[in-house]
Amino acid sequence: MTSMDVAQRLADQITKSGPISVADYMNAASQAYYERADVFGQSGDFVTAPEISQVFGELVGLWCVTAWQAIGQPRDFHLVELGPGRGTLMADAMRTAEDVARPFFHSANIHLVERSQARRSQQDVALSRFAPEWHEDLSSIPDGPVIIVGNEFLDALPVRQYEKTAHGWCERLVGVTSDGFTFTKSALPTTEIDEAFDEAPLGSIIEHSNAVETVTKEIAELCVHRPGIALLVDYGHVHSDIGETLQAVKQHSYHPVLQDPGSADVTAHVDFALVTQSARSAGARVSGPVEQGLWLERLGIAVREEQLVDGKQADEAGRIRTGIRRLTDPEAMGRLFKVIAFGPKETSALAGFETGF
Ligand code: SAH
Repeated sequence: MTSMDVAQRLADQITKSGPISVADYMNAASQAYYERADVFGQSGDFVTAPEISQVFGELVGLWCVTAWQAIGQPRDFHLVELGPGRGTLMADAMRTAEDVARPFFHSANIHLVERSQARRSQQDVALSRFAPEWHEDLSSIPDGPVIIVGNEFLDALPVRQYEKTAHGWCERLVGVTSDGFTFTKSALPTTEIDEAFDEAPLGSIIEHSNAVETVTKEIAELCVHRPGIALLVDYGHVHSDIGETLQAVKQHSYHPVLQDPGSADVTAHVDFALVTQSARSAGARVSGPVEQGLWLERLGIAVREEQLVDGKQADEAGRIRTGIRRLTDPEAMGRLFKVIAFGPKETSALAGFETGF
């Protein structure tokens, strides 16, 4: 569906049945957006960690090997990636595993959770030698131990928004006028917002993602029962708080969220307090969140950087170093991005989280 189609379909739906939730708007916009031909990289709209430096996927691959050891090195297990984009992370992870951990490499069955057909085709090009299986969601992952990874998957899941009014927290909705989509509010307040936010000033916005809550619970349940270990990397905050974080990005610049749905990448900060709570409620042990920069340093990114630049021309070495700085620098992605892991209750400390509990 093109962005024109999705805008028209949403406008028709709102005209017929009334304003929709921000989450429903985001879900429709995001689904249309990820079917576009080229969304990642310099020529697309945004760049993610695996696309910035091969070291990201390599270290995630090594981490998966240590996670596999932590669950007893099962000879047949499912290596699952959520929202694999172009398939770069998995390709880098598997190349590294093939070099350094053959038993892991040969025991892994690759599964990709991806709902976009356009992205599946791209992933097929990058990963065909591993004969991956695709899934709409986690419910069809076959029985057996799992290792689950996801980079910038949770931020793409829909959030609901609530606005503080004189009579309580009202859900923010999306309506339509002759000028296009516009925010409006539910007539009745909700009682679902935590009392801790009762004193928030009028006009405050709070976000909550039912989708993040549900999927992190599902991931944690798999970790507890299969058994399994999961690693999620995303941008977001450690404490739930008031504030609007919903954003749209097109060609590396911010774009108005309600303009041309389906033409820009719509995401929101991940609430890691919610992720932690949801995984714990499923009985998992949670490690982190730890800042991405710190986690990569603990996994030895500096050593890998020196290996990679060794013998390279100055400009190539410079590009490698710049990419790595972008991942680790607190002013770039190093602090805003966080890494969190789930495992069964009895899991020993996982690499990179040693002091991060
Ligand atoms: N992990 C990749 C891509 C991140 S973009 C990287 O780091 O480069 C988000 C990815 O999640 C895309 O592949 C998108 O198609 C997929 N996605 C978004 N919402 C999804 C959903 N509800 N179910 C499955 N996949 C989804």
